[in-house]
Amino acid sequence: VIKPADRMTALPTQFFAKLVGKANAQAAKGRDVINLGQGNPDQPTPPHIVAKMQEASANPMYHKYPPFSGYSFLKEAVAQRYKEDYGVEVDPATEVAILFGGKTGLVEISQCLLNPGDVCLVPDPGYPDYWSGVALSGAEMSFMPLTADNRFLPDYNAIDQEALKRAKLMFINYPNNPTGAVADSEFYEETVAFARKSGVVVASDFAYGAIGFDGKKPVSFLQTPGAKEVGVEFYTLSKTYNMAGWRVGFAIGNAQIVSLINLIQDHYYCSLFGGIQEAAALALTGPQDCVVELNARYESRREAVFGALERIGWKAERPGGSFFCWLPVPEGYTSESFADLVLEQADVVVAPGNGFGTHGEGYVRLGLLTSEERLVEAIERIGKLGIF
Ligand code: PLP
Repeated sequence: VIKPADRMTALPTQFFAKLVGKANAQAAKGRDVINLGQGNPDQPTPPHIVAKMQEASANPMYHKYPPFSGYSFLKEAVAQRYKEDYGVEVDPATEVAILFGGKTGLVEISQCLLNPGDVCLVPDPGYPDYWSGVALSGAEMSFMPLTADNRFLPDYNAIDQEALKRAKLMFINYPNNPTGAVADSEFYEETVAFARKSGVVVASDFAYGAIGFDGKKPVSFLQTPGAKEVGVEFYTLSKTYNMAGWRVGFAIGNAQIVSLINLIQDHYYCSLFGGIQEAAALALTGPQDCVVELNARYESRREAVFGALERIGWKAERPGGSFFCWLPVPEGYTSESFADLVLEQADVVVAPGNGFGTHGEGYVRLGLLTSEERLVEAIERIGKLGIF
């Protein structure tokens, strides 16, 4: 019998693995399952990006090891995107790290900064991958509740003082997974002030930065004066360009943190395949109408879903961004009992909110990740259960 290292037993099992298992079991019964549980974009990568990858994959230069920390042309493309989209100046040589998707960086930053006994401030509900890096570092988590009363923003005044003394890192994430909440520049100013005062490093997860509704473009943390002194932003192509399978993301901002992340990446990976880096650079510097279309598609799906929710009498708040709807479960149900019921009786997969933390209890997360027709059908099937 092989005995794993203690850090492995601290790692939680992947929450979505369980959800996928349940959905597959239902589909195996021959049922027409509508899966709105996982955050996997349903649309293909824009063709000009795919074509660039096909062409670049034949370049023999890319068949060798890529340079450590990746090609500078890709970091320059990131800097150009941030300048155009947010008016933020980024030094590509020292302020951008190339990652295997945002996920790796979100785990690595904890390993870069946290010792056993240190504390990481983590949003609750929040994206479960934040927990993994903290667990691997042997550090502790202190949860920041996100509640509807505070527009799903953390209340920095309510953080446990004993935990704050040992806190070295915090995660924030807007547009938010799972609540769909968005943050404004005031919130980021408050965040920078809090980070300065408490000495906590900020990891801003901007995975849904391209998806903001009602004519409001999501604000980047890096637009805040002083942001680069206190933290980094994690940016990814997964959602913005429907490139989740390509695994391309970035850590952008504080040069010292970028250098630590690059160091850890150099040991694990060297860098991404060069053909992917070239296609990723084109995604960032090429025509951006695909991003405008993507945003409009999700907004239109949101409207279709909320129209259907109103018709069946399910009351909920519209998300301001991301591609998730955060829906309160009806009285008498827990997140999980309600998610199980709609899977078993309506063949619809939603993610139970408690999988994102204790403050996720009482909600389910629904992804806007199939056609309007299928989304409406999913809500109608739930409506037919006669609960609302
Ligand atoms: N952050 C959040 C909040 C996410 O929802 C996701 C993906 O679902 C990621 C980060 C990771 O994205 P990727 O590793 O594909 O860049």
